[in-house]
Amino acid sequence: MDCEAEGRHLRNRSKPAPGLYLVATPIGNMGDITFRAVETLRAADWVACEDTRVTGKLMTRLGLDRPLIPYHEHNAEKARPELIAKLKQGAVIALVSDAGTPLVSDPGYRLVRACVAENVAVTALPGASAALTALQLSALPNDRFLFAGFLPNKAAARRTALRELAAIPATLVFYESPNRLGESLADMVAVLGDRDAVVARELTKLHEEVARGDLFALAGRYADNPPKGEVVVVVSPPGAAAAPSEADLETRLRQVVDQGARIKDAAALVAAETGFPRRDVYALALKLFRMGDNG
Ligand code: SAM
Repeated sequence: MDCEAEGRHLRNRSKPAPGLYLVATPIGNMGDITFRAVETLRAADWVACEDTRVTGKLMTRLGLDRPLIPYHEHNAEKARPELIAKLKQGAVIALVSDAGTPLVSDPGYRLVRACVAENVAVTALPGASAALTALQLSALPNDRFLFAGFLPNKAAARRTALRELAAIPATLVFYESPNRLGESLADMVAVLGDRDAVVARELTKLHEEVARGDLFALAGRYADNPPKGEVVVVVSPPGAAAAPSEADLETRLRQVVDQGARIKDAAALVAAETGFPRRDVYALALKLFRMGDNG
C-alpha cells in the first residue's frame, strides 16, 4: 500500500475505542509523525498536552482541530481526576508531550497508573524519541542500555547520581540542557572515567550533529562553549575505555590555563575531571609551564 492509500485507509476507519492513547509526536522533523498518530489525534474527543501553544501549533500544521486540555507537572493533581472521569464516561483522550514520546522524561506516568488502577484502557502509539535516536546514531554498544533521563542540576547531587550509575554494565543515555553540558561532561569524566561517548544534537533537524570522542575530549570541547539546540549524551559501558593519557591531560591543562585559570586551580580542575591525584596533575602542570611552585 502506498502512503496515500494508507492515509485514505486510516481516514475511513471508525472512531477508536474509548481509552487513553499515548501518542508520540516528532522531535523536530514533522515527517516523523505516524499515520496512526494523526488519525488518533483527529478522532480524539480531547487531546491532553503539556503546553497548549506547542500542541496547538502541531494540530494546526496537521490541519486538525480538537479541544486541548493542559496536563503538566503543575496542574496534574487537579487535571488527572478530571481526565479519568471523562475516560470512564467513554471518552477517547490522546496524551501528547511537547515533543517525542510521552512519559519519557515527560508527564504521563501517574495518569497511566491511575488508568490502570481504574480499569481504563490505555494504549501507546510509538514514534520518535530522542533517547533511542541518539542511541542508534551513537555507534556505541546497544545490546544493553540504561536511560538515565536528566541528571540533577546541582553538582553534588549530579555526582551522587553518576556514582550510582558508574558500575552498571550498560551504555548510558542522558538528556541534558546545552548550558549544563560542559559541567555534566566534566563530572562524567571524574565519576565514570574517560569512556567513549557521543553528544547528539538537534536530532532529526536541519543542524543534526553527532560529536564523537571520549568524555575527556568532549568535556574540553563543550567546557565554555555550550552548543545550540537540544542534546542527548550517550556514554559507553565501563571498562571499554582507557584512562586519559598524559598528552590528554596536557591539552586540557593548556585549555584551562589559556582561559585564564591559575596553574594551581587548573590542576585542581583537571584532577577533579579525570580522577587523577591532584598532586600528580599539579606536578605535570608545573613541568608543562616550566615554573616554580608559585601558581
Ligand atoms: N519525550 C521526549 C522524547 O521522547 O525524546 C523527551 C522530552 S525531554 C523533556 C526533552 C529532552 O529530550 C531535551 O532536553 C533533550 O535532551 C532531548 N531532546 C528532545 N528532542 C531532541 C532533539 N531533536 N535532539 C536532541 N535531543 C533532543
